[in-house]
Amino acid sequence: MHCIQCRHLMDPHILFPVGEDPDDGGLVICDHDDCECFNVWSVDGRPPPRMQRPTVDDLNRLRAATRRVG
Ligand SMILES: [Zn+2]
Ligand SMILES: [Zn+2]
Repeated sequence: MHCIQCRHLMDPHILFPVGEDPDDGGLVICDHDDCECFNVWSVDGRPPPRMQRPTVDDLNRLRAATRRVG
């Protein structure tokens, strides 16, 4: 299954919660370096979280952070 936005495989895409509460929703980015793929998701019935679209640099930072942890 491929991402409709960036055409990379959905796995790996990384999901980040935006707040302390996972119910607040979050954002999903692609694990490929320099990919601009960015989606927001939310729990049923809630509007998606409002956030500014991150830059490629922001996305690269998020990816680097997850790799350090993992
Ligand atoms: Zn994608
Ligand atoms: Zn991608």
